[in-house]
Amino acid sequence: KAAPLGSSVIPIVNKLQDIFAQLGSQSSIELPQVAVVGSQSSGKSSVLEALVGRDFLPRGNDICTRRPLVLQLLQTKSKSNGGSDDEWGEFLHLPNNRIYDFSEIRREIEAETNRLVGENKGVSDKQIRLKIFSPNVLDITLVDLPGITKVPVGDQPTDIEARIRTMILSYIKQPSCLILAVTPANSDLANSDALQIAGNADPDGHRTIGVITKLDIMDRGTDARNLLLGKVVPLRLGYVGVVNRCQEDILLNRSVKEALSAEEKFFRSRPAYHGLADRLGIPQLAKKLNQILVQHIKALLPDLKSRISNALVATAKEHQSYGEITESTAGQGALLLNFLSKYCEAYSSLLDGKSEEMSTS
Ligand code: GDP
Ligand code: MG
Repeated sequence: KAAPLGSSVIPIVNKLQDIFAQLGSQSSIELPQVAVVGSQSSGKSSVLEALVGRDFLPRGNDICTRRPLVLQLLQTKSKSNGGSDDEWGEFLHLPNNRIYDFSEIRREIEAETNRLVGENKGVSDKQIRLKIFSPNVLDITLVDLPGITKVPVGDQPTDIEARIRTMILSYIKQPSCLILAVTPANSDLANSDALQIAGNADPDGHRTIGVITKLDIMDRGTDARNLLLGKVVPLRLGYVGVVNRCQEDILLNRSVKEALSAEEKFFRSRPAYHGLADRLGIPQLAKKLNQILVQHIKALLPDLKSRISNALVATAKEHQSYGEITESTAGQGALLLNFLSKYCEAYSSLLDGKSEEMSTS
């Protein structure tokens, strides 16, 4: 079944936040940003939207994303946890204005783009910052970036390509940024702008996932099997092939949910893709991202452990000076952390497909 981005990370992050709360600590877990790169109209915004599971990004054949959109997902308490199931967006440039209608969010992204760079295809590196509040997301930041273009159109300056490349690099060269390098299946992977720029920022390929879009509109008689197997351009973290909504689906308002089931049907009906289930579909891409996030959290655990034992020592000293010994909150924290390490391990082996079942109790 479709596992949205973060579904397996949310419980881990929540437990960590509980530990911090117990320790009375302000710190929280910082997850890496995820940015999409690729040429214009390769399907970057479509992929992000599908991962979030809501319709709210401008998409289309033309240049739609003309300013970086920094999309901060923030988890709220669900109804079953004493909160509400409402989901809403809030723009930095429209403070205290909750927008519950996601098509209004899309219109505001378009309007705010136009306010700064006009309606004639102008591009700017000035961010639009949007927070999405929902009980169904994890606290993570996604960045939707303008695509690489070669030929200036409309109000674009002659050096548009260089400018966009510099803008993209400023995000993806950060060592903590995960890169979704998006290439449409109906173009030549060896000439992929996405892989080229990702390779610049991440030469070892430790944080680049290849995403092949538009598998549904490849030339008849061809398929992406060899691309997905890494036989054309090898990539350390591999590729995931997806089918997003086409322009007609967008015009007909097909939902993310419908798109996901259409995608699944597509792969089932194509013998060329049989046996590649671990490299196909948006849910698989979400799973891959989850895997990387779990690894990231695991890597943070030793540091958290030492912070907790420092807190433990400090508290013990304080108690000594009072002449009394009680169980310190730091001790409880260490216990929880220990439990959590095991939890993370169990999750990652689950994600690695080593074990089929895992109880979360
Ligand atoms: P971006 O410029 O990279 O952000 O690309 P968009 O997400 O805006 O998509 C560009 C166009 O390609 C839109 O009309 C989408 O409907 C279409 N598109 C994106 N992905 C796919 C796909 O997998 N299959 C098909 N048929 N169309 C797609
Ligand atoms: Mg876009």
